[in-house]
Amino acid sequence: SKRISIRNLNKFYKDFLALDRLNIDIERGEKIVILGPSGSGKSTFIRCFNRIEPHDSGVLMIDGKVIDDKTDLTALRGNVGMVFQNYNLFPHLSVLDNCTLAPRLVRKTPRADAEAAAHRYLTQVGIDEQAAKYPIQLSGGQQQRAAIARALCMNPEIILFDEPTAALDPEAIAGIVSIIQDLAAQEITTICVTHEMGFARRIADRIVFMDKGSILEIAPPEEFFTTP
Ligand code: ADP
Ligand code: ADP
Repeated sequence: SKRISIRNLNKFYKDFLALDRLNIDIERGEKIVILGPSGSGKSTFIRCFNRIEPHDSGVLMIDGKVIDDKTDLTALRGNVGMVFQNYNLFPHLSVLDNCTLAPRLVRKTPRADAEAAAHRYLTQVGIDEQAAKYPIQLSGGQQQRAAIARALCMNPEIILFDEPTAALDPEAIAGIVSIIQDLAAQEITTICVTHEMGFARRIADRIVFMDKGSILEIAPPEEFFTTP
């Protein structure tokens, strides 16, 4: 079943065309990696999925629903989670409280239920022992895992990753690879911007290659990385 359907998506910054007629369908549970030079529109593209950047024309549909200026952004951003490059954890909250804040405030989930769910997701990403710590007390890889757990606490069907492996060592990257594979097994769709070719090759079902705001190629990694 098609999770996401995109037709002729355009995005302008003033009169600069940042996204130029993008077209792609993405299936439930698919792992998409977006590659391309700096400034090619990768971040802008994934930010359209949760409307941090509203597109200007074309159609973006998620689960058969058109995403536009009438979309309930709170519901959309619950369904389309995002893991930011710099993690964006709240520094004054423990890892556990980072995870429970949105479910409690946005979903009105009782604290005990939110905490039980948070512990499950922190266990899934392997950092439940760090639940009481503050972000600054964690390594980069642990902060990345905390950011993923925090996104999972809203039960999203889609998770966007902006450069998830930037500043991580190979061991931490291997951890993120296995978490993303876990998410796919749970039918969560992942869309991931990266510069790391090895990471892209390991996780992608399909690679989307962008340049100057356009999609130049969409192909599985074994095809994409084949040298002619
Ligand atoms: P990438 O993620 O591939 O590095 P971006 O999506 O960040 O590319 O940027 C695509 C282009 O849009 C770049 O030329 C960038 O300078 C421009 N751009 C990004 N965000 C803004 C903005 N808020 N205002 C104006 N131009 C922007
Ligand atoms: P990334 O490569 O992750 O997109 P950037 O350094 O390109 O990071 O952008 C960081 C922030 O600056 C983003 O919020 C982006 O929207 C904004 N930005 C990028 N390019 C421009 C630009 N030309 N004018 C205004 N804002 C921009």
